[in-house]
Parts: sequence; structure tokens; C-alpha cells
Amino acid sequence: MTPTLERWTTERSTELYGVREWGAGFFGISQSGELQVTPEPGNFTNAVSIPEIIEGIQERGLDMPVLLRIENILGTQISLLNNSFQSAIDSLNYRGSYLGAYPIKVNQQQQVVEAVTRHGKKYHHGLEAGSKAELIAAMGMLRDPEAVLVCNGYKDEEYIDLGLHATQLGFKCVLVVEMPGELPLIIERSRALGVEPILGVRVKLSAQANGLWAESGGDRSIFGLNAAQIIEAIDTLKAEEMLGSLQLLHYHLGSQIPNIREIRNAVAEAARVYAGLVAEGAGMRYLDLGGGLAVDYDGTQTNFMSSRNYSVDEYSVDVVEGVMTVLDEQNIDHPIIITESGRALVAYYSMLLFNVLDTARFEPETLPETLPEGTSIHIQHLYDTLEALNLRNVQESFNDILYYRDQVRQAFSQGKLSFRERALGDSVFWETIFRIARFAKDMPSLPHELEGITQALSDIYYCNFSVFQSLPDSWAIGQLFPIMPVHRLNETPTREGLLADITCDCDGKIDRFIDSQGVKRTMPLHELKDSEEYYLGAFLVGAYQETLGDLHNLLGDTNIVTVRIRDNGEFVFVGELEGDTVEDILSYVEYDTKALLRRFRKTAETAVQHGQITPIQRRDILQAYKNGLQGYTYFER
Ligand code: PLP
Repeated sequence: MTPTLERWTTERSTELYGVREWGAGFFGISQSGELQVTPEPGNFTNAVSIPEIIEGIQERGLDMPVLLRIENILGTQISLLNNSFQSAIDSLNYRGSYLGAYPIKVNQQQQVVEAVTRHGKKYHHGLEAGSKAELIAAMGMLRDPEAVLVCNGYKDEEYIDLGLHATQLGFKCVLVVEMPGELPLIIERSRALGVEPILGVRVKLSAQANGLWAESGGDRSIFGLNAAQIIEAIDTLKAEEMLGSLQLLHYHLGSQIPNIREIRNAVAEAARVYAGLVAEGAGMRYLDLGGGLAVDYDGTQTNFMSSRNYSVDEYSVDVVEGVMTVLDEQNIDHPIIITESGRALVAYYSMLLFNVLDTARFEPETLPETLPEGTSIHIQHLYDTLEALNLRNVQESFNDILYYRDQVRQAFSQGKLSFRERALGDSVFWETIFRIARFAKDMPSLPHELEGITQALSDIYYCNFSVFQSLPDSWAIGQLFPIMPVHRLNETPTREGLLADITCDCDGKIDRFIDSQGVKRTMPLHELKDSEEYYLGAFLVGAYQETLGDLHNLLGDTNIVTVRIRDNGEFVFVGELEGDTVEDILSYVEYDTKALLRRFRKTAETAVQHGQITPIQRRDILQAYKNGLQGYTYFER
């Protein structure tokens, strides 16, 4: 991006970074060019400046990167979902109700689950567990007997017993049969413990969705029972006189379903199955649609996989209407609709904040006015191509310089060119590429081969975080997250760059960014200023990222800070979790850090004995080693 004489405005930053589109009303830009956040979508009168929060974090002695949670955004999202369903129910005269069940797997951190249960209390928002550990967490966190506790996942005897104990304690705990083999064990354990269970069954629908996680649904999905297996389960329950216990039908089409049509198709099919179960005499009360409610990460409101072509209100109306349409035909009572929405509840409330450590620029070297006498013919060809370049021969010149560049490389490998000549050849090549890129900007349509040229010349911004730890889905499945600077938004971003993390891994980068027209390979950024930090944020990272992250290069959990925004626009720090120390991380990969220190002491002592260091130097080196063990795993200024 070239500097422009036109005055840059914060409105231009708002458009450039698509803040209005992906921010769902939670984010905006202040007159002074700082990114702001508000828990009340669209109301910026009491919004808080993110750079101000960063200042507060640093005053408390915590370094970047930091995962920042805005607690009240979670409350807003829980209200949005529950109120949306309530209005759909009211407006359509639906005779059942709605209950949410937050799937712990989406973000299992205690602070998150605690916040969900606290904010969700007035809606009786429950929890979904997918394993024994999650059930144990849920049983410890949930207090509300009106809320549901849905148990999914593969179940052994211990898992089943825990679920049955939850029922004994008065929880609405539903044991969902995911595999045909689970049912006999559940029946046996219920009898042994003398507990009447609440049973559910997960159906494999034939409806399927597109998207990154689509494989959870469809006939070939891993979990769930097909029609014949469900009939078999009904017959078993009938024979055991337990059909009344079967009260819930569950399905999960996949997460992040971008297209409302697929959601509607699945609801219609599931409602038919529900009706079939009622007809068989099961004690049906709940229809559980699982997850899938998507987040509009790129703000395009389309059926692109990082987006969704519907609002939460539309989702609720379509679900309620879809269920009613089928069941009314057969005069069946309306069930309690459950959704296990996770992503839509927690994505918005976390952002990863990090500083930029350095940049690398590709800039052409200064070329001599004329080539020295006796310059190799290959370099001469490159130089002639550069001199002849104009708007009309861009493509041809591009083809030529690639050819001559290869000739130069070959000649160098065969010993026909000196290293200095090779360097001159490279410089002429890159100068030509730069000039082609300048022409390319003015071309109405870019030839296919030239599409990657801006990316090839873009800057690299080295950032203080690990993609593998903090944005694993960006690396593993190419998920897009909105990323932008959090300040200087009243200044022109004069550079285009991609982001590299500090793992030095060639995959440790972000080079796919949200864009209204698809996916961009670089993003607009500001020039770094001497002695001033430049902060960026990755947004909507509250779902799935925290616990999927790994310890690549032994970079550990980041510091986590939770802030609550008050009605008067002030903010309070309500939670603070220090990230992993080097010692923590080493112990995760089974180092005995005490033994490491003992060995290192000996190494240092041997160095003293050999006269390599003095005893005083040994003391200082040991102190540095111990400090290192206690330190943060990320770059510290
Ligand atoms: N329910 C089940 C059974 C799941 O497997 C998942 C996640 O894949 C969810 C709910 C949460 O889905 P989402 O985050 O799309 O709401």
C-alpha cells in the first residue's frame, strides 16, 4: 500500500478491517484511533479502549501475549440466544420451551464454565458433557435443578454411574445413547443403582452440512444410531419396560454450519424421527439439536465456511417453526427444544493481544547505472528485460525474468558465475518484480501468474505469540479469524504484511485474512515506530482455541486476564491467570526440573575447574538459569 496524501480517518479503518461486519456491535474505533469494546452491541457511550486495558495489564506486571476475556460479552451472548428462542416461541405460539446446554468441550476452562453457569442461571442454561472428566466438571459447577445436563460421548460403567448419581441428586441428567452397545450397560447399571434414568438417543441423520466440521453429521457419521439401530433400542427398552425413560432425541450435524438451509433440512428430518419415537410409545420430551450455530468470523454474512448466512433470530425462528410444522401435522405435543450451542456463546468474548517484535521487508537493492564491463550474458538479459519493462509487456517480462533468473542460478551452480555476479542477478530480478508489482496495481485484471506477486513482496511482521498454542485452528484447518491493530487506527496503514509467530516454524504464520471478497493473503499494517510497541489483536477466539493449543517449541499457555465493563464505562479486572512458566512447560514434557538444575550445576562446576569461568561467573550463570526456569515462555522485553 502506498502512502496517500488524503487524510486518513478512523471510519476508513473501520471499513478496511471490516470491524462493523465481524464485530457484531461489540467493537468500534474511537476518535483517537483506538479499538474499543462494549458489552452492549452498538452502544459505544460506555465503551472501553483496548489499549487502555493493555496498559492496565502491564501495570499489573503481566507481559504480552495476553488472552483477554470481556466477561459481560459472554452474558450478552447467552441472553441473545435465550431471548431469541423465547421471542420465536412467543411469536409462533409454540407450546414447548427452550433450554440451552453449553458444551464444555468448546472451552473447558473453569473460569469460562463458571461464567456460563452464572450468566445462564436466569435462563436455566445447562451443560453438555462429552466425557467423564467433563461430566465431573459439570456436576461440580452446575447448581440449577431446572437446567439440563446432557451426557454425550462414549460411556463406560463409571461414566454411566456418575450420570445416574447426578439423577439421584436431582439433576435433569440425560444419558444419550451414542452407540448401540451402550444401552444394555445403562439398563444394567440403572437397575443395580435403583435409579430411573432419563435416556436420550443420538440419531444419524441423512441430512448433511458443508463446512469445516461437516463430518459429524450424515449417514457415515461416527457417532449415533441409524434408524434400524434405534428401532432395536426401542424394542430392547420395551422388553425391559423402560420405554418411558427414553425422553430425548439428539443429533449433531457439525460445528459452524454456514448455511441455514442445511440447518432447516436437519430440523425437519429430526422432527420426523421424534414423531416416530412418540408413535412407538417412548416418553419423549426433549429434542436436542446439538451445536452448529455458526459465528460470522469474516463478517460477509454468506454461506462461506468462516461465515453464516443467517442471524441468531433467524436460526431460532427456523428451528421452532421447523419443529412445529412437522409435529402439528401429527398432533404431537411440542417438545422442549435444546441446543448445545458453544461457539456462538463464547467466541466473541476472548481476544488474543500481542505485540510486534520486528519486521522484515523485501526491498530492492540499489542497482548500478550500467552493468560493469564483462558482465555475464545471463545477467545482461535480466537487465535488458528490466529496462524494457512497460505496462504493455508486463506478462512477457515476468515470463522472461523467471527464465533468465533460472539461467543465472544454473550458471552459478556450474561455476560459470561468481557469487558477486549471482548477487547482482538476484538484485536485478527483484527490482523487476517490484516494478511489475507497481504496474499490476493499475491493471484492471491481473494475469493468473501475477496474482501472488503482492504477497511475495509483502512485509513479514514478527509477532509475540504461537499460532500452534493460541490459534490452532488457523494452522490445522485454515480457519479465519479477524485480526487487526488495536491502536493507531487514525493513521494510514502504509504497509502490507503477513504475520509470523515466534516458533520459527514455517507453518507458524498467518497469511490468510478475512476479506469481503474471499480470503486475502496479506493485511494492511502500520510502520513500526522506534521505542513504541505496536499491538495487534486476533478476535473471536473464545471457542475451541484454548485447549486445542499445543506446546510447539515449548511455548505455553499465555497470561489470561478477565475484565468486566461497568455501566459507567469503567472496567474492573475480575480474573488473572498467569501463563505457563518455562518450568511448568518442561514438566509437561516430563522433565524433572530439579534434576535438570542439578546437572547444570555440575556442568558449570566443571567449567570452573577447567578455568573457563570464575566461581562468580558460575553464580551469575546459575542465577540466569534459575530465572529462566521461572520466566514466561514468550518474548519478554
Ligand atoms: N454438541 C456436540 C455433540 C458437539 O460435538 C459439538 C462440537 O462439535 C457441539 C455441541 C458444539 O458445537 P458448536 O460449537 O458449533 O455450537
